[in-house]
Amino acid sequence: MDPNNQPQPHYPNPNSTLPFWRTQPHELDNYRSSENLPTDCHVLIIGAGYAGAAAAYHLYDDNPSPPSIVLLEARQACSGATARNGGHLRPEVYFAMSDYIEKHGIEAAAETSNHEVAHIQAIKQLVEKEQIDCDFTLTRTFDVFLDEAFANKSKDAYDGLVKRGLTSIQDAHFTPAKYAERVSGVKAAKGCFSFTAAHLWPYKLIMHLLGLAITKGLNLQTHTPVTHVSSTADANGRSTVTTPRGIIKAKKVVFASNGFTAGLLPEYSRKIVPCRGLCCRVVTPDPTKAPYLNNTYTLRAGPGLYDYLIPHVDGSIIVGGAKSAMAKDNSVWYDNSDDSALIEPAKEYFDEYMQRRFVGWEDSGAYVDQVWTGIMGYTTDLQPHVGPIPNRPNQYVLAGFNGHGMPVIFLAAKGVAEMIRHGKTFEQTGLPRVYRTTEERLLSPENLISGKAQQNAR
Ligand SMILES: Cc1cc2nc3c(=O)[nH]c(=O)nc-3n(C[C@H](O)[C@H](O)[C@H](O)COP(=O)(O)OP(=O)(O)OC[C@H]3O[C@@H](n4cnc5c(N)ncnc54)[C@H](O)[C@@H]3O)c2cc1C
Repeated sequence: MDPNNQPQPHYPNPNSTLPFWRTQPHELDNYRSSENLPTDCHVLIIGAGYAGAAAAYHLYDDNPSPPSIVLLEARQACSGATARNGGHLRPEVYFAMSDYIEKHGIEAAAETSNHEVAHIQAIKQLVEKEQIDCDFTLTRTFDVFLDEAFANKSKDAYDGLVKRGLTSIQDAHFTPAKYAERVSGVKAAKGCFSFTAAHLWPYKLIMHLLGLAITKGLNLQTHTPVTHVSSTADANGRSTVTTPRGIIKAKKVVFASNGFTAGLLPEYSRKIVPCRGLCCRVVTPDPTKAPYLNNTYTLRAGPGLYDYLIPHVDGSIIVGGAKSAMAKDNSVWYDNSDDSALIEPAKEYFDEYMQRRFVGWEDSGAYVDQVWTGIMGYTTDLQPHVGPIPNRPNQYVLAGFNGHGMPVIFLAAKGVAEMIRHGKTFEQTGLPRVYRTTEERLLSPENLISGKAQQNAR
């Protein structure tokens, strides 16, 4: 914030911390399809993360006459949130659903959970169809409550959803306090839910999709930050996209720029807010000294206070969250786009975490091998912004996934691709209605990020 309380535009920091997923860079990491930028194209995508790569994938998929597509990325390919996350593909099936129903009604809420649940099969099928080596694993996930009152409140809310017939919760199963520690393996668990989820190596998935798109004609330009996009079209209906390497005229523009979207679209300032998150990789010197964890986890100490864990077959565990350590000072995470530094109050939070939290891990010797930060795009009403941008002809946004993009982005990108390829309206794509970016949402003074968003985040 500047002294006049005006939000400052955020841009990707060139010196980011190194996430585990990127320790062996892919051959396309710094790729440029051509020495010079093309002067024009049909579709220009900004951002080579999950959203940008998925949009390109769907624009090419089963398309005998694909458009010319240019993808501009400020840093290396897949160097943003996607390469820094937990790799956790965990649909929202019950936890935030009561709030969603209260706010949007049961039909709209059900659309969001159905959209998220559909990602498990959609990504499984994608990985199988394209033979993507990304450690995709189908699993169950535990939501473990460490506080009794919070567990009881969540169980009551769940019972309410059962009564209302919400289909997504049919897959969820509750274990009460009496057996929760034994079933989950988490010490002093006061209750837990389990449901179907998946996990994968996000960088490998996205780099594969980018490679595939390149074979179909994608012009990828890494290290090419976009500095400006015209809000109006020229006489030929094209937007002007400006970079330090030149200007490109594009018939359609897709902003897949995550927490940095407001740097290019001032109307999203204070609507998509960059928020910093912390993740680490825990390893065990001798994996036989600790029980193998066959599920993924969210551990909830109270509203807004959570950690998540994604164990891998090699015995390592990706752990993120550390919300308890950041609760005192919002400035360390809120409206903060610096992924070049660790979050000071949280950087040692995961030391001895497995020993403290998991049964049988006391003598495991587990330690934090690597820790990093990443920038999420939180939205003030907790829903992504997807679709045609109000008052900007032929420009689309696909951003603001609230630290929870894995079970949202792939099919949201499919919807945007259908709008571009087939001229579908937002409604014709079947995307959840609450994702649609609208003037009303952009003008709303509501900001739930530091309250409910944190409570619902996972
Ligand atoms: C620490 C952490 C843990 C997370 N864990 C999970 C998880 O386990 N499960 C889950 O579902 N979600 C998780 N998330 C959220 C998830 O990673 C995101 O929702 C998702 O990756 C967003 O994808 P994206 O493509 O929109 O953004 P990104 O991957 O950030 O890609 C956006 C790209 O746009 C580029 N860009 C921005 N502005 C410009 C510009 N002006 N010019 C050119 N390029 C630009 C950026 O450099 C970036 O590469 C986590 C996020 C973080 C940070």
